[in-house]
Amino acid sequence: MKFINSLSFAREQDKKDPLKKFRKKFLFPKYNGKDALYFVGNSLGLQPKTVEKYIKVELEDWAKLASEGHFGGRNPWYSYHEMFAKPVAQLVGALEDEVVVMNQLTVNLHLLMISFYQPKGNRYKIICESNAFSSDNYALQTQVQLHGYNPDDAIIQVAPREGEYVLRTEDILDTIHTHAGETTLVIFGGVNYLTGQLLDMPRITETAHQAGIVCGFDLAHAAGNAELYLHDWDVDFACWCTYKYFNSGPGAVAGAYIHQKHSKNTELLRLGGWWGYDKNTRFTMDKKFTPMQTAEGWQLSNAPVLSMAAHKASVDIFTEAGGMKPLRKKSLMLTSYLEFLINELNEKLKDKNIKLEIITPTNPAQRGCQLSIIAHGIGKDFYTALTKAGVFCDWRNPNVIRLAPVPLYNFFEDIWRLGEIASTLLLKNS
Ligand SMILES: *Cc1c(COP(=O)(O)O)cnc(C)c1O
Repeated sequence: MKFINSLSFAREQDKKDPLKKFRKKFLFPKYNGKDALYFVGNSLGLQPKTVEKYIKVELEDWAKLASEGHFGGRNPWYSYHEMFAKPVAQLVGALEDEVVVMNQLTVNLHLLMISFYQPKGNRYKIICESNAFSSDNYALQTQVQLHGYNPDDAIIQVAPREGEYVLRTEDILDTIHTHAGETTLVIFGGVNYLTGQLLDMPRITETAHQAGIVCGFDLAHAAGNAELYLHDWDVDFACWCTYKYFNSGPGAVAGAYIHQKHSKNTELLRLGGWWGYDKNTRFTMDKKFTPMQTAEGWQLSNAPVLSMAAHKASVDIFTEAGGMKPLRKKSLMLTSYLEFLINELNEKLKDKNIKLEIITPTNPAQRGCQLSIIAHGIGKDFYTALTKAGVFCDWRNPNVIRLAPVPLYNFFEDIWRLGEIASTLLLKNS
């Protein structure tokens, strides 16, 4: 499509947008009495207006029924998590018994690594990305230590090449080939939190498997953002949080995926708890742990229903929107429009020693909705000025501004307004 930098063009796109009614389902923070320009759905998604109602149902049942709510409530708490199997499986491209909603992201990563990081003999190394999120680094390091290895030796990081910001698929695949004999696990962020790069998950998985290596992904920035086909890609395991693109509230309950071929293998080591126990005989209180042969077999504790109610409100909106396909279609356009406006602004900034360098891949197939920018010649001052002007964006050390237009609730008009604010700030001040 040919983009135009004008309010009327932006509004025209919004009018044609088949998903336009979804914006009204979310609560926006205000700036000068109006909806703020919100581009940090990659950090904390907006609150769906229905969240309050969904939580209220559970509060009322708790008040009226107390312990009877476990089986007699409108959404019995005993099986509350089961309501997610179908819609969440669809959103991440899994079979219904391959997903479970439980815990938080880093907790799930640890639980899954107990099963999928099982070093043996020469094979004890992990291949991951050099700019992984801090929590993932800490999880990998301490898992390695748990097995008695030294993280400096056991963790192999694939880094961008000199002068580049994002990973090359060939470098990831080469690293897997080079270290095949000593590696037991390959794990990457499906979408990198810093650069917004969307990795070629099917090829990475296939290459790892050819070398006899287990392959998993942290989908914190991919779930609810990119189209995923975890089962068809044969990914072994994955986990994600739900407070980012899944709009389920601060610290909300997280998700996990375990391929059926693993969940049916009851010999596979996992940490046990009563909620992972075969639910048909759970209350026999047997001494020996017999896990469910589905992703539910990784659950430890009974479900945090209030947090899950918020997640349910959001998942229902995704389902109503038709799942990831239409969302991704709009997302590609929104992000390309943002890229177009930034490129146009860069033209005007040529003789001012300022450049907004987009470090996210230019190929839309290699990115989610986020664009990451290094503001050469102005740096953090640009971020600060944007936030003062009512733009919600964020800064990640050492020098990256992240902007994430979210297809469920962002409009082309938001992006156009952001472009206007950025050009006013940069053309006037320099
Ligand atoms: C947001 C994020 C986390 C946060 O972890 P929590 O356990 O949810 O606090 C971890 N890893 C990645 C890659 C993230 O983007």
